[in-house]
Amino acid sequence: MNAPVRPESCGIDLARERGQRAVFCGLTGIVWLHRKIQDAFFLVVGSRTCAHLIQSAAGVMIFAEPRFATAILDERDLAGLADAEDELDRVVERLVARRPDIRLLFLVGSCPSEVIKLDLSRASLRLSRRLAPVRVLSYSGSGIETTFTEGEDACLAALVPELAEALPAPEAPAGEAGLLVAGALGDVVEDQFARLFADLGIPVRFLPGRSAGTMPAIAPGQPFLLAQPFLAGTARALEARGLHHLPAPFPLGAEGTTGWLRAAADAFGVDPARFEAATAPGRRRAATALAPHRARLSGKRVFFFPDSQLEVPLARFLAAELGAEIVEVGTPYLHRGHLAHEIAGLPPGTRVVEGQSLDDQMDRARAARPDLTVCGLGLANPLEAEGLATKWSIELLFTPVQGYEQAGDLAELFARPLRRRGLLEV
Ligand code: SF4
Repeated sequence: MNAPVRPESCGIDLARERGQRAVFCGLTGIVWLHRKIQDAFFLVVGSRTCAHLIQSAAGVMIFAEPRFATAILDERDLAGLADAEDELDRVVERLVARRPDIRLLFLVGSCPSEVIKLDLSRASLRLSRRLAPVRVLSYSGSGIETTFTEGEDACLAALVPELAEALPAPEAPAGEAGLLVAGALGDVVEDQFARLFADLGIPVRFLPGRSAGTMPAIAPGQPFLLAQPFLAGTARALEARGLHHLPAPFPLGAEGTTGWLRAAADAFGVDPARFEAATAPGRRRAATALAPHRARLSGKRVFFFPDSQLEVPLARFLAAELGAEIVEVGTPYLHRGHLAHEIAGLPPGTRVVEGQSLDDQMDRARAARPDLTVCGLGLANPLEAEGLATKWSIELLFTPVQGYEQAGDLAELFARPLRRRGLLEV
């Protein structure tokens, strides 16, 4: 059983920093969310900068009919708020008329002051009424309010009040609505987990669904697992609807996946022998896949800049399952409750820094000369030029990395830059 863990007692060296940050904004999440919810459209209400950001982040999509766009509010719209609202309504109506495949439309807020003045939640209510059956929702992806994975959190939190209430059969005991897993996972990963939960005898639904019509129904008293560590707002929204969070590590690596599944198995009273039988084959395959990477990563010194909020679980995976040495774990935010198991899994004395003061952190990274630095795109080039091997943290969001079958791929993502640098140095 996953015992409750108090991070204060886990002997990490926890610090907080405030200063200049170098993190993408929450618009970035659109790049993976539009692939996940297949009949949703993301309309950024923003500036040319926003349009450039998502076009370059999602550059590969130029060959497909895109399901995201930017409605650019220029200065001419500042003449009056009512004009801007009318303009937004016209843009959305034109879009929906042109794209009858859209079932769910997100208005995504951004930084410019003229956007901040617009009430997008009111606009979404107004447009939902007008454009039924298309649902229009809104959330903020603004760089003032969100770092890049917080865009997914805001999107899922906007979906939660919309979820239908599951009506349990009259004779069903409490909790029979099954398990809810919250957090966008690659379809292949979701299918693997669905099979594992079926082997454990646990009914499961996933948030978000793959389309507007397959969003999960939920019920008060229902337990939920987070599949991603950056979903504080989504968890709060689910708790407000009476669901309860199952504390667990995150399903990264073999140990994280086992701990995550075990939290569900304990909540549903799964027999230990059944748990063993369902998970042993996956654990065996993960161990085989991880072994060659352990040889390359063991003893390697790794430094995490704060970026995706995946840093703490990844550091736990690298240290506990691959024998890496963690120099520093930066994370934009540290949710002590959701990350309690992960913090407890870090080696004693690991330096964890919440927030960012970019110059200070760059100085520490340069002084430490880590073997591998995990960071955002903007920092990777300068650090590579200084002779440091880097891993782009954004790749960890775009690549399916959760679960037993992906444990080897996850390790490979960290081993590859070391191999490349080794070749360059030969
Ligand atoms: Fe747009 Fe603000 Fe993100 Fe820049 S930081 S791309 S202005 S939302």
